[in-house]
Amino acid sequence: MGKVLIIGAGGVGTVVAHKVAQNPDVFTEIMIASRTKSKCDAVVKAIGNPAIKTARVDADNVDELTALFDSFKPDIVINVALPYQDLTIMEACLKSGVSYLDTANYEPKDVAHFEYSWQWAYKKRFEDAGLTAILGCGFDPGVSGVYTAYAAKHHFDEIQYLDIVDCNAGNHHKAFATNFNPEINIREITQNGRYYENGQWVTTKPLEIHKALTYPNIGPRDSYLLYHEELESLVKNYPTIKRARFWMTFGQEYLTHLRVIQNIGMARIDEVDYNGMKIVPLQFLKAVLPNPQDLGENYEGETSIGCRIRGLKDGKEHTYYVYNNCSHQAAYKETGMQGVSYTTGVPAMIGAMMYLKGLWKRPGVWNVEEFDPDPFMEQLNKQGLPWHEVFDGDLEV
Ligand code: NDP
Repeated sequence: MGKVLIIGAGGVGTVVAHKVAQNPDVFTEIMIASRTKSKCDAVVKAIGNPAIKTARVDADNVDELTALFDSFKPDIVINVALPYQDLTIMEACLKSGVSYLDTANYEPKDVAHFEYSWQWAYKKRFEDAGLTAILGCGFDPGVSGVYTAYAAKHHFDEIQYLDIVDCNAGNHHKAFATNFNPEINIREITQNGRYYENGQWVTTKPLEIHKALTYPNIGPRDSYLLYHEELESLVKNYPTIKRARFWMTFGQEYLTHLRVIQNIGMARIDEVDYNGMKIVPLQFLKAVLPNPQDLGENYEGETSIGCRIRGLKDGKEHTYYVYNNCSHQAAYKETGMQGVSYTTGVPAMIGAMMYLKGLWKRPGVWNVEEFDPDPFMEQLNKQGLPWHEVFDGDLEV
């Protein structure tokens, strides 16, 4: 059906590459390109399909990107590099006439600031070019938006309360490690919390609000209120929402390490002088922390991510909980990566599949909840992330 170019050969890129290769009826030609070509070659070797092409590209450089796009001529680019590269890749897509998909909203390198405005500003240009850009198509953002769209379509006339709950109950047996890119992860967690209530955003101190929530097959886990980017698009696309929040679990050991990292200045994202060299402490820290891609082998337990929703159907109040549990070991056996990379990479592949099948093909820039959730939900069950529903249970939130 079409040619796909994956940019980024990290944990998520590796999963995307495995999954597109498993669907050759949809993805007829595949290329994986990243800053370090040897990493792309290693992914191809692990998959065992020499027909997958590889290339080196600096995704901060629009000219390099357009040269690559013009020679490979992909139908869609799956951007699973870092959020810093979103805008350069979108620019290059416009220049070369290629559609676009990513899993994280653009962030400037020098401020940890999460909002869609930079990417939404491209809407008219993508529309005029007849190209589709699908934003935030990992698990959260991604499946969290599709779950919400599915709930709105099938189970509610009006969604009023939305809580996205993200639990990682896995154990990687390291004193401290992050499950995806440490720089991106620590920037996200150390910022202020924020949630939406009655038309306004309420700001909290970092990790100030927390409570124990019970996750299926896992049990109660302390869950912390964070700001997460999909809240911005979901409250815009579902104006009946009165309150929207995002919760993520952290163990005490993790939080203690994080506090120390912050207290000693290692979470700083500004440059400091070190022996006449400029270094960014958080980037240096990334270099000494365990590589998230190496956690898979000894990772036990599972993730559980879902949406807990309260709203009205036929004038009556109902609750609905839709979720997926993903085993780190099963993810590792299939792709060599742990569950957090797996739960991000599978939806990115499905989003590209939706585009190539013509189901999510619409000129402009879109968040996932703006498309039909049904064919995506069907593929989640087929591609390794089956979902479950609880009707009218206690949401605890
Ligand atoms: P990694 O750090 O493991 O991988 C990032 C990859 O991008 C690496 O291969 C890196 O190359 C490459 N890269 C970085 N900068 C450039 C550049 N300038 N040009 C070309 N390639 C570049 O990250 P993850 O795989 O863990 O995460 C990938 C993305 O997925 C991130 O944007 C992250 O925010 C997002 N994510 C989304 C989630 C969701 O549910 N929506 C959850 C988890 C992650 P090199 O190896 O040479 O450094």
